[in-house]
Amino acid sequence: MEDDIRVSHSFGRSYVDVLSARRGDAKWVTDAVAYPTSVEEVRKVLDLAMQQDLAVIPWGGGTSVVGGVTPETDNHRGVVTLSLERMNRTLKISPRDQLGSFECGIFGPDLEQRLQARGLTLGHFPQSFEFSTLGGWIATRSSGQASSLYGDISHRVMGLTVQTPGGEVRWERPIEEATGPSVDSLFIGSEGTLGILTDATLSLSPRPESATYRALLLKDWKDALVFLQEVAAGPVVPAVIRLSDPAETRLTLAGREAPLGLKGVLERTYLGYHGVAQGGTCLGILGFEGDRSAVDAGWKRAVPLLARAGGIDVGRGAGESWRKERFSLPYLRDLLMDHGLFVETLETGTAWSTLQGLYDALHSRLQEAARSLRLPLFIGTHLSHATSHGACLYLTLITQQSPEGVDEPFTTLKRAAMGAITSHHGSLSHHHGIGSMHRPWVSPLWEGVARDVLWSMKSKLDPKGLLNPGKTLPLRPQP
Ligand SMILES: Cc1cc2nc3c(=O)[nH]c(=O)nc-3n(C[C@H](O)[C@H](O)[C@H](O)COP(=O)(O)OP(=O)(O)OC[C@H]3O[C@@H](n4cnc5c(N)ncnc54)[C@H](O)[C@@H]3O)c2cc1C
Repeated sequence: MEDDIRVSHSFGRSYVDVLSARRGDAKWVTDAVAYPTSVEEVRKVLDLAMQQDLAVIPWGGGTSVVGGVTPETDNHRGVVTLSLERMNRTLKISPRDQLGSFECGIFGPDLEQRLQARGLTLGHFPQSFEFSTLGGWIATRSSGQASSLYGDISHRVMGLTVQTPGGEVRWERPIEEATGPSVDSLFIGSEGTLGILTDATLSLSPRPESATYRALLLKDWKDALVFLQEVAAGPVVPAVIRLSDPAETRLTLAGREAPLGLKGVLERTYLGYHGVAQGGTCLGILGFEGDRSAVDAGWKRAVPLLARAGGIDVGRGAGESWRKERFSLPYLRDLLMDHGLFVETLETGTAWSTLQGLYDALHSRLQEAARSLRLPLFIGTHLSHATSHGACLYLTLITQQSPEGVDEPFTTLKRAAMGAITSHHGSLSHHHGIGSMHRPWVSPLWEGVARDVLWSMKSKLDPKGLLNPGKTLPLRPQP
């Protein structure tokens, strides 16, 4: 097998992964990449792995940002990365039942194109949409940008087929069933540690007849939060609810030479508004989708709430520009890294009542950690994935790269952030997952008998511990 194929399947897309790959600093490289085209071939790979004691790392699009696909193991004779990219067939689409079944290696754009051609949508648009797969989404409990309306991927799974070293697990229900506990739901979010997801049945929505995205400017972050909570409570819930804090707003509006698109339109409005607002301005995006009457009703309700919060509607042009550009922003990271910058993101979720406390704790602990490293730190934050209960906080951290090694400043900043998250009611991750990056903090989530149950399932499904070792699961209980 070509070395470049092995190397390119040994890193995900976190800052540490990207920098390690750039610097040729690979601690772990997979021994082989398998490209099965059918369930039978997946089973052959698993049988071989069982016979030869090989670790198996499921690979969708490799966009994990939490060390989910790195071949980290010293306990096996070798590592095979199992790419699902050749398993991308449509098995069934039923517009009448609003259900569709696909092999799990299908990438976002193909899936959505096949659905839209039949008048349907999954409504799942993570920022990594173009490069991530259905199997990866389910394995990580992914959330799309329009999750306020469509839910995250776990709300959409109505059936799964999973190949494990211990055998196949399959279930499908066209509608909710009261048939006892659902062992199957444990595979959602299992991040490749319990089995290979080979196909899935999804609940779908009609392709929206109408969609209106608008950009908003608000004078004050805290007032804006009240506004967004009111909007998220419905009755007509937007697909996208997003608010950048003042720092992220300034970053978005930077690059004044760009005359067109989101930046151009917003910049002109922002300058006028900012003069009135005296700083602290926040950029919001609201997007309603559905039939025309629902979209109109959503805006009709949002407009007076926005005025009460002291905000203004910048208009549809800027909102639509955001929508068009929404998958391209991550490319900026690679450019900044070319210039010696550290750029990493982190995210967490919490209830509305604890959101501001978590925001403050994250900012103060991260700045304190940066001071200890004698580094300037930019933190841009946005709120997204809002529901009536709470929302996700998504932080972009920018500082200098360490000239040697890849671990600092990442390790210090990560520890500071996780300290704030665990002490202020944040989730370890709202949608990126656990992987190896968050594993040191996962144990308290699985105490006592819950951990025993999880590990007895793992032992039954994967008796030799071959599947994605070192990821996601809490440490095995000691006998
Ligand atoms: C720029 C960028 C933006 C992102 N934006 C978002 C976002 O908006 N929302 C979001 O939720 N995430 C986001 N992510 C994170 C990432 O894209 C998601 O976790 C995504 O679900 C991973 O899909 P993938 O196909 O690339 O999976 P991979 O990265 O290949 O794998 C992720 C994990 O799932 C396991 N896995 C993959 N396929 C299977 C399978 N068929 N069976 C069993 N296990 C499997 C892997 O072993 C690994 O543990 C982003 C990442 C990047 C780089």
